[in-house]
Amino acid sequence: MTPTLVFYIIIGFITISFVIDQILDTLNTKHFDDAIPQELADVYDEETYRKSQAYKKSNAKFSTLTSSFMLVITLLFFFADGFAYVDDLARSVSSNEIIVGLIFFGIIMLGSDILTTPFSYYKTFVIEERFGFNKSTPALFFMDKLKGWLMTILVGGGLLALVIWFYQMSGNSFWLYAWIVFAVFAVVMNMFYAKLIVPLFNKQQPLEEGSLREKIEKYAATVGFKLNNIFVIDGSKRSTKANAYFSGFGSEKRITLYDTLINDLEEEEIVAVLAHEVGHYQKNHIIINLVTSILLTGFTLWLLGIFISMPIFSEALGVTQPSFHIGLIAFGILYTPISGITGFLMSLLSRKFEYQADNYAKDTYSGEPLIRSLKKLSRNSLSNLTPHPLYVKLHYSHPTLLQRYRNLKQLR
Ligand SMILES: [Zn+2]
Repeated sequence: MTPTLVFYIIIGFITISFVIDQILDTLNTKHFDDAIPQELADVYDEETYRKSQAYKKSNAKFSTLTSSFMLVITLLFFFADGFAYVDDLARSVSSNEIIVGLIFFGIIMLGSDILTTPFSYYKTFVIEERFGFNKSTPALFFMDKLKGWLMTILVGGGLLALVIWFYQMSGNSFWLYAWIVFAVFAVVMNMFYAKLIVPLFNKQQPLEEGSLREKIEKYAATVGFKLNNIFVIDGSKRSTKANAYFSGFGSEKRITLYDTLINDLEEEEIVAVLAHEVGHYQKNHIIINLVTSILLTGFTLWLLGIFISMPIFSEALGVTQPSFHIGLIAFGILYTPISGITGFLMSLLSRKFEYQADNYAKDTYSGEPLIRSLKKLSRNSLSNLTPHPLYVKLHYSHPTLLQRYRNLKQLR
C-alpha cells in the first residue's frame, strides 16, 4: 500500500458515507407525502398536517445544504494538505507532543465549529422560529456555545492529553490504559451527569406538590420507585419541544421531565410517560447501554492501538513526522464502515428497549394514556409519521409512532 492509495481510500470513505446519507435522505423525502396510516389519522388536523409537511421539507433541504457544504470544505481541506499545515503550525508553538496534539485538535475543532455555527444559528432562529418551536435567544445561544467550548477544552483536552501521554509511555499498549480511563469516565459521567453537567445549562427542581405529584406517588409506590428521584427541568427556556429521560443508576438514578411535557400532557398521560421511563430502569437498560458502550470503546481503542503507529497514515495526509494526532484523524475516517455497523446495532438495541419500556408502562400502568401522550408529543413536534423503513432502521433510536401504537394495542 502506498500513502497515495491510503489518501484516496480516505477520500473514498468520506465521499461514500456522504452519498449513502444522501440516498437515505432522498428515500425518506419521497415518503413525506404518503397517506397517514389510519391508526394515526387523529394526530393531525388539516392545518397542522400542512405545517408538518412544510417543516419536514425545510429540514430536509437545510440538512442537504449543510452536509454538502461540509463535504466540499472537508475535501478541499484534504486536497490542500490542510492537516500538514495545521501540524506545522502546532509544531511552531511547541515541541512537546502533548501540547502539539492539543493545539492541533484545538485548531481543527475551533475551525469546524466556526464553520458550522452559522448553520446551527439559522436552524434555531430561522427554521425552528418559523414553526414556533424556538424559545432561545441569541445571548443564550452563544452562552451555551461558550460553555460547550469550555467543557470540551477541560474534559476533552484533559482526556486527549492523558491518552497521548499513555502512548508516549507505553507505545501500542496505550489502548489498555486509555480504556480504563474512558471506562471510569463513562461510569462517573453516567452517574453524575444530572449533578455535574445539567446544572450548567438548566435549572432542575423536584416535582411540585399537587394532584400530579399524588398520582405519580401512587404509581411509583406500586412499582417500588422512590419519588425523590423525579425532577422537572426548564426545557422551555430553549424550545417548546417536550421530552423525558432516565439517567444514572444506584443512588444517583433519576427521571427528568421537561416542564414542556408537563404543560402539554394530561396528568394521566404524564404518569404513563413516567412509567415508560421507570421501565428503562427496571429492565436494566441504563446498565446494559453503559456496559455495551464501554466494550465498544475497548474494541475501538484496541484497533486504534494496532494502526496508530503506522507512518503510512501520516504520509497519506502529507505530514512528514508521524504522530498520535495525525494517526487518530486517519483512523477516525477509516473506522467509519465499522462505526456504521456498530451504530446500526446500537440503534436496533435502543428500539428494542423502547418496546420493552412501552410494554412495562402498559403492564404496570396503562397503554391507552401512553398512546395518547405519544400522539400529542408527535403532533407538538410536527413529527414525520411516514418515514422510510430503511431510514428508520439506520437512524431511529425509537420505533416509529405507528410501530409503538401497534405494539401497545396488541394483546399480550
Ligand atoms: Zn424510552
